[in-house]
Amino acid sequence: MSDFILEHHPEDILLNGVPVANIEHADDILTASSSPPGFQVHLNESQSWANDNGCETSIPKCLCQIFGPRQKSYPSFHLGGKVIEHVQKACYLGLWFETGTSNIWREQYKVKAKKATTAANVLLGLDRFVGALPAWDMRTLYMARVDPYLIAGCEVCLDVNAKSLKLLEKVQCKFIRRMLGVGSRSMKAVLFSETGIWPIKYRRVYLALKNLCHLIELKDAERPAWNALQESLALAREKKMSWVNDLCIVLRRLDPPVSLEIISDWKVEAVQSTMKDVKKSMEAWIDTQIETSSRTKDLLAGRLEMDSESGKLIKKTLDFRHYLRVKSADHRRALTRMIVSSHSLAVERRRWTERGRTVVPRELRICRFCQESVEDPPHAMFMCDHPELMQLREVFLSKLYAEVPEIKGQFSNPVAFFAGVLHRREITPVLAKLAFDVLKVYDATPMWLADVYATN
Ligand SMILES: [Zn+2]
Repeated sequence: MSDFILEHHPEDILLNGVPVANIEHADDILTASSSPPGFQVHLNESQSWANDNGCETSIPKCLCQIFGPRQKSYPSFHLGGKVIEHVQKACYLGLWFETGTSNIWREQYKVKAKKATTAANVLLGLDRFVGALPAWDMRTLYMARVDPYLIAGCEVCLDVNAKSLKLLEKVQCKFIRRMLGVGSRSMKAVLFSETGIWPIKYRRVYLALKNLCHLIELKDAERPAWNALQESLALAREKKMSWVNDLCIVLRRLDPPVSLEIISDWKVEAVQSTMKDVKKSMEAWIDTQIETSSRTKDLLAGRLEMDSESGKLIKKTLDFRHYLRVKSADHRRALTRMIVSSHSLAVERRRWTERGRTVVPRELRICRFCQESVEDPPHAMFMCDHPELMQLREVFLSKLYAEVPEIKGQFSNPVAFFAGVLHRREITPVLAKLAFDVLKVYDATPMWLADVYATN
């Protein structure tokens, strides 16, 4: 609470050397003090002011909290001769404070995660009333209705507590997975690389830094927030608990870490540079995940996207990918599953330990039809000689070559061919239909199990 106490109202007074602070928002007043007597004196002052100005204080609405080490007994506080209720959790201007725990923001994360979950569930249930919504519309609704809860208070409560942050991450990942139609075991990085949505931990600290720029620009000793920042900086320089110190911890924990130099005369440009570093860190994390995972490195690593402004192929680590605009929800989901490796083909399913089966080495996740190659999306869509699949492929190729004749003979292997046709936007709906039809054929036949690995 030290940061908070130091956030003086300009007209605050020192009572017997004890700092007190009033923060007012309309008729909501928050009073803080570092000592029980100081707090009581401040309450008396407030009551006197209310009496002099003909105001009535609603005692049931007045709450008090005591922070710090646990005590055997706690003092009572009075307002107008009546005892104020002592509570463990209280909300002021949408921010929840909790006492009796080392993490005073624990309730804040819990409440916001719960509200975000409710909003997310409403959006995910919309299809029952209006049919399947386009992915872009779902993304827009997510940013309007779910994201505000996930970023609520991020300028104040920094994500130093991993358990609390996980509550928010869980809501975000679940929503994006449902939006894309991929399974709960799908990679996390692709949820962001394919939708352009920022992972919540990077987004929250980025916004906190943005707010820091605003605070620095205040440069006004009359402003409580600017004073609070100066005090927080002073505490951080002495390596004491403070908001600034927490900010440095959160930045250091990013993958890869970001550093922030604590200097007395902070410049907006320096913080803006750190914001760029946070963005780079996020992109580096996503790139590394995609480049090192056997599920995505062949198809997605180094992928180029057509830039609508310049008309050139460029690398975009995060973007709302064009294939998510395919109108048929079933086809779109099938193609998405093929791309992000969240499908029902053996190369993915055999990596799981389910129904008593052990994980099968990749080279033994063999195609259930030809039993010659690994059963992965490029093989299933463009190589397998199963008659039904060949028929589907023939239809696809005739449309592809009619639309993009120059692609014929350009690629030497099915992975390169898949990557090649993927960025041709004119053929994406047909490619998505192929993915849907192919998965349907595979799902109708049980997977092939090498005898040595069949434990059932
Ligand atoms: Zn095959």
